[in-house]
Amino acid sequence: MRQQRASTHGACEARFGAFVRERLQPTARQRDRDGTPLSREQVTEACALGLATLRADRAHGGGGASLPEWALTLEWLGAECEDLAVPTLLGYRHAAGALLHELALGRVPGAAAEGRAVAARWADAVARGQATVSVAYTEGADPFSFRTRALPTEDGYLVHGTKTWVAGGLIADAVLTFAAGPDNELLAFVIERDDPGVSFAARDLMGMRSLGVAQLTLHEVKVPRSRLLLDRDALTAAQRFFNERRLTMPLGALGRATRLFEQGVADLSQRLRYRLPVTEMQAVQSRLGQIHVAIETARTVIYDAVERADESDPVWDAVITTAKYFAIQQLEAAVRGLSYVLGGAAYDRALPYERGLRDLHAFLHLAGTQATLEVDLGVKAIAAVEQAATRRRKRAVDRG
Ligand SMILES: Cc1cc2nc3c(=O)[nH]c(=O)nc-3n(C[C@H](O)[C@H](O)[C@H](O)COP(=O)(O)OP(=O)(O)OC[C@H]3O[C@@H](n4cnc5c(N)ncnc54)[C@H](O)[C@@H]3O)c2cc1C
Repeated sequence: MRQQRASTHGACEARFGAFVRERLQPTARQRDRDGTPLSREQVTEACALGLATLRADRAHGGGGASLPEWALTLEWLGAECEDLAVPTLLGYRHAAGALLHELALGRVPGAAAEGRAVAARWADAVARGQATVSVAYTEGADPFSFRTRALPTEDGYLVHGTKTWVAGGLIADAVLTFAAGPDNELLAFVIERDDPGVSFAARDLMGMRSLGVAQLTLHEVKVPRSRLLLDRDALTAAQRFFNERRLTMPLGALGRATRLFEQGVADLSQRLRYRLPVTEMQAVQSRLGQIHVAIETARTVIYDAVERADESDPVWDAVITTAKYFAIQQLEAAVRGLSYVLGGAAYDRALPYERGLRDLHAFLHLAGTQATLEVDLGVKAIAAVEQAATRRRKRAVDRG
């Protein structure tokens, strides 16, 4: 990907540069100040240009881009647009569409036969840029204690509950919603925005303020059986979505951190203190060196995970999870370190640094908090060490 980076970024610039500069960037600060979500029109335009739909299959109206191409495009977007919600929403939207597509084909364990036509319709609408579908999973409880319930009725289900965080909820046409069935089995449904009993309330967040994050309330929503997409094992399907999000989500963060670093260095090199540019002071050079190492090691692990994705476990992959955990930790620390060395500029809302830090902070909590990823990775690592020790003991016994 390192070799491909300059040419893919150049192609993005030629194809989407004007759109980002003229349609997204001018209102980026206003969106942040007011908490205004990216509009449906902006998302529709990004689809019409082939940007939001770049990774979707050609057969479904998408651009058929390879995963590295898509990843580099998200990185480019993160660099070019001050609003980190842009690559985040486009990556999220694509991942939701891809899961719907897999459900339509019955490739996901637990995919309900009744819901395949509906899954295909929404997958197609996402790929063609005609709709945005969000995913409502989180609700302030673990998945074995979900309070969002789905009670069977004669012709479908009655869904009732609250989902506390739905990215893109303020503009989504439909939401893939997880709820506990009568025997506590996790199920998933497509809930449409206009269904009676559905309401969205904007969340007022510290960063990612234009991601359109909303709380979704479902008041006795009647859902036909044809919209039941997962009739068992929905937890595994949710993990597939989070696994994919962990892979592509850090790319926008990488682009943003890189651009902030470049801007920060340019800014510091113009500042003279005691007749020297600040960048000639060794304490500053050392700090910038640390930030550079953080960003470049993050780049290495992210690219590595993308390049190996073909061999990855689609449900929970240790390389992808490690990459998300490590890269986000490094990139957040890099932008925080930049704030330290920039002085007052880092605190000024007229400049992009403080926003970068607020937006990046969200990734610590997304697609598995850093703390839960540490636990999962620790469990896997312990199991791997124990299995290796058992194998060694067995070989020693076999040898006599
Ligand atoms: C900007 C943004 C957008 C989001 N978009 C969506 C979305 O579209 N759809 C969606 O479903 N969710 C979404 N989320 C929710 C996000 O996935 C959750 O915030 C995250 O899963 C954590 O859940 P929680 O906030 O309920 O924390 P809790 O589960 O309440 O955790 C609280 C603390 O306890 C720790 N903890 C919890 N369990 C364990 C454990 N087993 N071991 C160790 N530590 C643990 C956590 O790490 C955390 O520090 C979004 C969040 C943000 C910030």
